[in-house]
Amino acid sequence: MAQEDAFKKIVSHCKEYGFVFPSSDIYDGLGAVYDYGQNGVELKNNIKQYWWQSMVLLHENIVGIDSAIFMHPTVWKASGHVDAFNDPLIDNRDSKKRYRADVLIEDQIAKYDEKIDKEVAKAAKRFGEAFDEAKFRATNPRVLEHTARRDALHKRYSDAMNAMDLDGLKQIILDEGIVCPISGTRNWTDVRQFNLMFKTEVGSTADGASTIYLRPETAQGIFVNYLNVQKTGRMKLPFGIAQIGKAFRNEIVARQFIFRMREFEQMEMQFFVKPGTEIEWFKRWKETRLKWHLALGFGEDNYRFHDHEKLAHYANAACDIEFRMPFGFKEVEGIHSRTDFDLKQHEKFSGKSIKYFDPETGESYTPYDIETSIGVDRMFLSVMCHSYCEEQLPGGETRVVLKLPAALAPTKLAVLPLVKKDGLPEQARAIMNELRFHFNCKYDEKDSIGKRYRRQDAVGTPYCITVDHETAGDGCVTLRDRDTMQQERVPVGKLRELLEDKVSITSLLKKLC
Ligand code: ATP
Repeated sequence: MAQEDAFKKIVSHCKEYGFVFPSSDIYDGLGAVYDYGQNGVELKNNIKQYWWQSMVLLHENIVGIDSAIFMHPTVWKASGHVDAFNDPLIDNRDSKKRYRADVLIEDQIAKYDEKIDKEVAKAAKRFGEAFDEAKFRATNPRVLEHTARRDALHKRYSDAMNAMDLDGLKQIILDEGIVCPISGTRNWTDVRQFNLMFKTEVGSTADGASTIYLRPETAQGIFVNYLNVQKTGRMKLPFGIAQIGKAFRNEIVARQFIFRMREFEQMEMQFFVKPGTEIEWFKRWKETRLKWHLALGFGEDNYRFHDHEKLAHYANAACDIEFRMPFGFKEVEGIHSRTDFDLKQHEKFSGKSIKYFDPETGESYTPYDIETSIGVDRMFLSVMCHSYCEEQLPGGETRVVLKLPAALAPTKLAVLPLVKKDGLPEQARAIMNELRFHFNCKYDEKDSIGKRYRRQDAVGTPYCITVDHETAGDGCVTLRDRDTMQQERVPVGKLRELLEDKVSITSLLKKLC
């Protein structure tokens, strides 16, 4: 299946099976805003629980908070968001479509990378076992030519972005001959800065309302609570504060479904450390976070680190964890060494001392900070993309199955009476009433058993049990495994013990220790 088609199928599957709906669907939706349906919310909650528990349960020195979305407007002055949280935008006069200039150029850089990769793949096929990739990349004239053009473009782009040279960005778009994907023309406007924060007002306008912002990240809620948590929790460095919450960005180029939304959710953890130890901690968090992703079992090949060459002025190291989406490797999580920038800025703007007294050395200093920041929705998308399968079955039938990690699946067990009579529904209900306290179960008695299995496959339910006419006599049910479709007879009394470990978040957490 072409990757584009695969992605379209995933998007429509999400809607058809109650995972994700466009916001305000009956009014034809609202751009880049989505609602999670009855299955989506369960999957999303499980992702959040996996993250939260991996941070707060597994680390004695990490605690959580839940700060408000509205914050004092000076927070965003101090953080730099009022002055610098901008995207450079450009319009195509013919299609009237608006684009991010940086994204147009980054896509162009990716095209050179693709050309290089194609040459390498072709040669690898030609030379087989004997292929020396490093040598080929260093000597092949076509690869060298593409690499030189890519590197020159990358340098020009980095320089223009660092200097926020908007004319320079436009000139690159013109020189590279980048066309609008809709109109196919190069009829571009100038590049302009656009601030991504949503503004609103607090208080009534009559008595002097003040402008406040919907938070564009959850991190600042942690920084402004640093002192509160450190003092009341008697925290000693190194320690972390974790938070899950909504963030809002007026994304102009909102594309790719829930990959880039205007209202989204972040799971962020700020880890405060002694100055000078931050790079070591940055490396440790990179590994820890990758391990968290790998425990889901999607395969190492589907992840990569992307170390930033261009660092924000406050960072001394930064890296993204990228996941192979159907539209290429994309950032799912950012890990940033943010130095003491944020705490120092809040110290400056609030006039309050934000220092740590180190009982070991007797010194007071501003801690350095390592941030791990992951989007819940992007994580959700990566889980969906990896789990969606269309399988050809013997006999020519196709089944659509979501091979979700069992611990993340919205429903863990479907309880199905073979027929809707002979006392089987009552027996099935009794089993369900017992198990529902331990994991999410669904009862279904409509349609043939085959159809009911397919319905559960499509929403990723890892196990189904069927209650049949033998159950009353032998106390056993048929347990069916979603992925293998294997069935086995299992005593009802053993079900909890058999399944609980396989479907619980604990089963994932144990892989991290
Ligand atoms: P991008 O470069 O894709 O705009 P970013 O580098 O601005 O992302 P961060 O500010 O580092 O993103 O935010 C941390 C995480 O929050 C990202 O890794 C991503 O998972 C998520 N995120 C950021 N913006 C959005 C968005 N508009 N929609 C959904 N998730 C987002």
